[in-house]
Amino acid sequence: MDQTTIIIVLAVHLVCSGALFWVIGRAMPPHSGANRWALGAVLFGLAYAGRLLAGPTPTWPAMLLLDGAMALASLLFLTGLRQFVALPAGRWPLVALFLLGFAAVHALAVWSLAAAGRHMLLNLLLSVLYGTLALEALRARPRQARALRPPLLMLVLMMGSLALLTLLRGLAFPLVGTGPLHHGLFGQLYYGYASLASVMLGLNLVWLVFARLNTQLAELASHDALTRLLNRNGLDDVVRRHFAARESRPVTLLQIDIDHFKRVNDNHGHAAGDAVLREIAAALSASVRASDFIARTGGEEFLVGCVAADDGVAWALAERLLAAVRRLDIRVPGVKVPLHCTVSIGISRRCNDKAGWERGWAEADEALYAAKAAGRDRIVAAGAMRADLR
Ligand code: GH3
Ligand code: MG
Ligand code: MG
Repeated sequence: MDQTTIIIVLAVHLVCSGALFWVIGRAMPPHSGANRWALGAVLFGLAYAGRLLAGPTPTWPAMLLLDGAMALASLLFLTGLRQFVALPAGRWPLVALFLLGFAAVHALAVWSLAAAGRHMLLNLLLSVLYGTLALEALRARPRQARALRPPLLMLVLMMGSLALLTLLRGLAFPLVGTGPLHHGLFGQLYYGYASLASVMLGLNLVWLVFARLNTQLAELASHDALTRLLNRNGLDDVVRRHFAARESRPVTLLQIDIDHFKRVNDNHGHAAGDAVLREIAAALSASVRASDFIARTGGEEFLVGCVAADDGVAWALAERLLAAVRRLDIRVPGVKVPLHCTVSIGISRRCNDKAGWERGWAEADEALYAAKAAGRDRIVAAGAMRADLR
């Protein structure tokens, strides 16, 4: 394939990918990065097409416009990725400053080294932007959900290799001139690889979006939207996996219920009730160990699975949870004084398997009922039915 055809295919592909990202971006939350990718891809495609139309010896303003569009497009890909991984993406005045700086250096490069200077500058800048994109993807990788790590690694490899190739090309312009780099084998190889990379980049970004949405869907299916704790579905899954392990450790269940929660709703409104639920959930969650699990099992009810604990450890955990809630000064919008709440806790005996779990949950529930009947803000353990008199 001759080089002009390769560039036409590349331009058409970039514009089409941009249109696809624009459609995807409309269905995503704002600042997901997809809109910047859309703009970047269209701009890059138009710049390639413009290059063909402008011919081999464009005027300086045309050169600046085309090269500036490519630099801006790469910057949009980079900042789009930063948005996607929830990093600050830079504001438009900064982008304008970047373009002004580019125009000044561009004028200097063309004045001193003519066409070779222009191509050297553009390639060096693109290689820095591609390399930064690869580095950002590498740095963001460990903080992302597991499903996002393979597409991020692929992005690192692809943009890293493109950065290296573009750097070599940029350094070669002043040495060998524009002819051998635009025409001949190296030119074909470079544009061939750039076309492949642009196809792969489009697919890669779609893969990232897909992995992100899939992760969010799984999170929504297994977690409660208000408190971010496991919901019943998520809890079932965790319990099933826990007892399916070959050497599963026993679990003690703590059933927790907020005392007189209905009064919060009645006195301060449902929104205040929601805020209280969120704060109490966070306090409970912060008090359990990483190996334990915690779920919101009903309106103002929570269940903690205390793994491999003897009775003393489970009781101590329940006391920690009780104290953590008592300590809270819960501030809710529209209420001047902080609210204070208490919880009652029922503890099961240890459960060794899934059947034991069902029995344990009933026991914890029964113990909770006893704690409520005994006056609330206390712990009752099943079996011995020890009432904590504080
Ligand atoms: P007790 O000490 O006996 O547990 O009394 P209580 O008032 O806490 O219990 P009750 O079961 O009478 O009331 C629970 C209330 O929790 C009733 C319901 O409106 C409220 N609730 C359940 N889910 C939510 C929620 O998601 N948000 C808010 N704000 N309230 C909720
Ligand atoms: Mg209740
Ligand atoms: Mg209650």
